[in-house]
Amino acid sequence: MSESLELTGESESVTQQHVARLLEHFNRCGVTMLPKSVVKSIRVAAIETPSVVTESAVSSTPPPRTPNDLTAAISRSVAGSASATRASVPAPLRPTVAQPLVSRDGPYDPPPLPINDRTTRLHSMAGEVAQCTRCDLLCRSRKQTVFGEGNAAARVCFFGEAPGEEEDATGRPFVGRSGVLLTKMIEACTLSREQVYILNTVKCRPPGNRNPEPEELANCREYFEEQLRIIQPEYIVCLGLVAVQTLLKTTQSIGKLRNRFHQYHNSKVLATYHPSYLLRYPEVKREAWADLKLLMADMGIDATSSAKKS
Ligand code: URA
Repeated sequence: MSESLELTGESESVTQQHVARLLEHFNRCGVTMLPKSVVKSIRVAAIETPSVVTESAVSSTPPPRTPNDLTAAISRSVAGSASATRASVPAPLRPTVAQPLVSRDGPYDPPPLPINDRTTRLHSMAGEVAQCTRCDLLCRSRKQTVFGEGNAAARVCFFGEAPGEEEDATGRPFVGRSGVLLTKMIEACTLSREQVYILNTVKCRPPGNRNPEPEELANCREYFEEQLRIIQPEYIVCLGLVAVQTLLKTTQSIGKLRNRFHQYHNSKVLATYHPSYLLRYPEVKREAWADLKLLMADMGIDATSSAKKS
């Protein structure tokens, strides 16, 4: 059930600034003429490529063009028109700005179910997950599975890492100390826990609250992917490094990934700090708040109507 997720995270968007830089580079190399086809591809790329994933980019299947595409197009054209140039092919542009990770899996498949069917499907999945024995250690050490909870028609899913002690005891996600802070974060967005859906990368508590092992994440992937496929949220807010790295299959740091939208199928993905990290390092709350403001702005929620919660 798991699909491939190709990412274009290392690429740089082709803004007009980059095009200007490229043309300067050509100039420095002594190139005074370019084949028409190259000029055309530069223009098209500069016009078509957004600097962030936009609504339309997220909902459309083709990934945005990247400077690598552009460089390749230029390389091909320049190489094929030696008479038009006196310089060698320029080196690829180096990324200067971290770019969104964009899944190439296309929209969720199948399309969204009626709400009642989503609720029924989630309910029967929870029963299936409760019987799961994929991870030898976790299924022996857990008190119960923590499937996830919330609104099957949620616009936003909050995606955490793994259940802790209290979640293991109650079977509900984010009910401990970090859950209290997550609830405040949700409410700071003028939303409620009942309006959103909350789930984790893994459904069982790792002993001692350690991070889930790669094998455990892989075993549980099918479950969270199916939950997201059922809900098809507009937004997925990844709480912490494990959540975002797992969802987007990346090894990039949270510092690089936060503060911009990425894409998973047709959900916009925002990464922010895990509430337990914010409890340990309260000075980072300012950045988490900036992330939530980005979410609100994109959702059309007036941030001024929300008081910042600590
Ligand atoms: N931390 C998580 O990542 N998930 C929970 O459910 C609780 C704490």
